[in-house]
Amino acid sequence: MFGLFNKKENMKEEKNNPEYLVLVDKWDAFLKKIDSRFNESLVHAEEAIMDNLVESDYDMLPTERAWGGIKSQLQDLSKKIEKTFKKNVKPQMLAYVERGDIIDQDQKGTLLGDSFYTRIERFEIILEGKIAQKFYNHAIQFLNEDFQCSQCSAKLEVKKDIFRSHYVSCDYCNTVNTFTPNDKIAEIRWVIENIAKYKALGEWDQKIKAHKACKNIPSLSEKEDKTDLKIAYDYWEVKEKDFWTKYFTERAAFLPEYEESIEHDVDVKMKLFFYDDRERSDLNY
Ligand SMILES: [Zn+2]
Repeated sequence: MFGLFNKKENMKEEKNNPEYLVLVDKWDAFLKKIDSRFNESLVHAEEAIMDNLVESDYDMLPTERAWGGIKSQLQDLSKKIEKTFKKNVKPQMLAYVERGDIIDQDQKGTLLGDSFYTRIERFEIILEGKIAQKFYNHAIQFLNEDFQCSQCSAKLEVKKDIFRSHYVSCDYCNTVNTFTPNDKIAEIRWVIENIAKYKALGEWDQKIKAHKACKNIPSLSEKEDKTDLKIAYDYWEVKEKDFWTKYFTERAAFLPEYEESIEHDVDVKMKLFFYDDRERSDLNY
């Protein structure tokens, strides 16, 4: 009993060791530096990628490739934290304290590193949304260009919300013309998904929060009360559904042909992103 008390007192003293505290300060400064580097990289990334889009004459491929490269560099920052702690910080700290004393230090790094993944995901929605909007504004001009009847040269109205080949009858001579969109117009169909996702960012934030709240509830045994877990899952269900509903509704605003399938599309995503998860959870249904 006495021995245990002494050991605890000792540990407390060790953690107040000035040389150890210097190491903690250094570690905090390192994490702060990595965090600002991460934030700065996001700002630079957006500038570089938007420039890339214009410079490549709105070619999405090099733009996506450039973002892929930056993204993996950003993810590497998370690994850098882990490596630095393991290789440098931990051995130095262990010269003054016990393994159990530095768990919270390790945790600080892990939390920051993990936050990068969600922050990258969120940034990606914003970035891809902005790229898509810029691309859309550029490509839509071609759709507004004159399209004339092959027979009588009368000006014809092209459908503005399908972005693919379609027939257009001439009101004057009844000739059926085929409108064939150029590559950029055809590509609008794909970028619209990113515009829709960006418009649903507020809902996305909420569903991520609700999801995290579920995951923060510790694992429960068979006999334990599951009320809190159920409340958390019910809340997440609502938020996840809100997000997908908003997303598919925004998409249908551009592509009305999808209006009828919104409900079905939401169901498919709910199964994938929510119901499968709940089945695997302690709620088990
Ligand atoms: Zn005509």
